[in-house]
Amino acid sequence: MEKQIALIKGDGIGPEIVDEAVKVLDKIAEKYGHTFHYTRVLMGGESIDATGVPLTDEALETALHSDAVLLGSVGGPKWDNMPGHLRPEKGLLAIRKGLNLFANLRPAVLYDELKAACPLRDEIIGDGFDMVVVRELTGGLYFGARETVEENGMMVAKDTLTYSEAEIRRIAIKGFEIARKRRKRVTSVDKANVLDSSRLWRKVVHEVAADYPDVELIDMLVDNCAMQLVKDPKQFDVILTENMFGDILSDEASMVTGSIGMLSSASLNETKFGLYEPSHGSAPDIAGQNKANPIATILSAAMMLRYSFDMDKEADDIENAIKAVLKQGYRTGDIMSEGNQLVGCKEMGDAIVANL
Ligand code: NAD
Repeated sequence: MEKQIALIKGDGIGPEIVDEAVKVLDKIAEKYGHTFHYTRVLMGGESIDATGVPLTDEALETALHSDAVLLGSVGGPKWDNMPGHLRPEKGLLAIRKGLNLFANLRPAVLYDELKAACPLRDEIIGDGFDMVVVRELTGGLYFGARETVEENGMMVAKDTLTYSEAEIRRIAIKGFEIARKRRKRVTSVDKANVLDSSRLWRKVVHEVAADYPDVELIDMLVDNCAMQLVKDPKQFDVILTENMFGDILSDEASMVTGSIGMLSSASLNETKFGLYEPSHGSAPDIAGQNKANPIATILSAAMMLRYSFDMDKEADDIENAIKAVLKQGYRTGDIMSEGNQLVGCKEMGDAIVANL
C-alpha cells in the first residue's frame, strides 16, 4: 500500500519523538512492502517563526490532501507572550476545525511492566487494563451559545448544551466500528436521568447498536463511570461519550495509567482521515536532550495504521514490539524504575525497531 503522511514535528520534544516514530514506520514499510511518503507541514511555534502565523492556509491544504497527519506537539515558553490569535495552540484548534475532526480517541493502557506507576491498588489493577475513550469533539456544551447577562440586578451566566441526532449518530458509529477492532464492548456514558441531550444520546446510540449485534452495549451514567474508572477499570473496552464528559473521563482514564509518555491519541473525521498525536505536550524542560519518551508518538503512529490505513497486523506488530522492549527492561527517564536500563529517546526508538 502507498500512503501520504503529513508530518508536523512541532516544538520542544516534537521533532525528536516524531523522528523515532518515522523510524518505526519505515521499518514497518520495509517489512510489509508498503510505501509511506512524508510531507513536512509547519504548525505552532515553528510555523510562527517561519511564517508569522501558527498555521498557514497552504499548510492546512497539505494536511487535507494527505491520508493522515502525524503530529509531535506544539507550544513552549518562547511563544507564551504572543497575542491569543497567534499562540501555537491556535494552530491545533485551526487544524482540528479545518479537517472536521469530530471524534477523539484516547487509549488508556496499563502495561504489566509499568504497574508501579499506576496509583491504584494491586487488587484493582489485576493483570492490567486496556480501554479507549471515544469522545465527541465538536458539539455539546463547549460549542453551544453562551452569554453572561444581568437579570434583576444579578449577573447570570448561560451555556447551552445542544446535540443533533446526526452528531450523535456519527460518533456512535465511530465508537462501534472501533469496538469491532477491539474487544467488542461499548460503554455509552450519559446523564440520561437528568439531561434531554443525554436522553437523545441514549436513543440514537441504541439505534446504531442495532447495526452492530456482535458488539455489546452498556449504558452508564457519567457519575457512576467516574467511580468505576478507579474501582474496576478492567470492565471497560470502548467508552463512548459526549464532549464535556469525555474531556473529564479521558483525563481520568489516562491518569490511572500513571505514565504521560505512553499515552497516544487520535482525532478522526467521517472518512478514514485522522490526526494522530501523543497526549502530552512539548515538554520544553527536556527538549533537545535525547530524554523524551517517544512511545506515545509511536503508539499514535500505530493507531494511524489501524484506524486510517486498516493495517491492523502492522499496528499489532508495533504494539507488541513496545511490550517486548518494556519486558527487556529499556526505560526512558519518565518511566524509569530500579533494575531497568535507562535509555534516551533515540535508543528507545532503535530498541523498538530491533523488535519489529
Ligand atoms: P507537558 O506534557 O509538555 O509536560 C509535562 C511534564 O511531563 C514535563 O515535566 C515533561 O518533561 C513531561 N513529559 C511530557 N511528555 C514527555 C515525554 N514524551 N517523555 C518524557 N517526559 C515527558 O505539559 P506542559 O509542561 O504543561 O506544557 C508544555 C508545552 O506544551 C506548553 O507550551 C503547552 O501549551 C504545550 N502543550 C501542547 C499540547 C499539544 O501539542 N497537543 C498538549 C499539551 C500541552
